[in-house]
Amino acid sequence: MAHDDCIFCKIIDGSIPSEKIYEDSDVVAFLDINPTRPGHALVVPREHTKDFISSDPALLSRAIAGVQKVAGKVMSAMDADGFVLAALNGPAAGQEVFHLHFHVIPRKEGDGALIGFGPKTPYKEGEIAEVADKIRAAG
Ligand code: 5GP
Ligand code: ZN
Repeated sequence: MAHDDCIFCKIIDGSIPSEKIYEDSDVVAFLDINPTRPGHALVVPREHTKDFISSDPALLSRAIAGVQKVAGKVMSAMDADGFVLAALNGPAAGQEVFHLHFHVIPRKEGDGALIGFGPKTPYKEGEIAEVADKIRAAG
């Protein structure tokens, strides 16, 4: 069911223009209007679902097949050396549009794009085991 206030539902139904690059019965892919690198694509399920964690695993599985196709096309068309696949979940992670989408961002060796995990910090003594215990015990 399309959501009236969802920009990606409007892109899917064509009421907002976009550069669509791929579609099938499960997903639509189009170019991000404000790309990190040229060819930066967004792959969205046709069915409105807010984010990754709340989505039906069967929908995710169909969507990821579309993501793989789009990634291949983007890699080949942009002559990329690699790509980043990302799905931001929640405002704390930078999600701005609440219709599930996967970013496919082509990368070239030495392109200088600022995509990554930021600074990494080793765990303190014993901390890694505590964190692992907590996650293993979580539902
Ligand atoms: P998020 O931060 O939610 O993972 O990413 C949303 C992405 O959607 C952003 O990279 C933004 O540039 C892109 N975007 C937002 N509005 C539009 C639009 O109207 N058209 C297109 N093509 N991309 C959009
Ligand atoms: Zn939507």
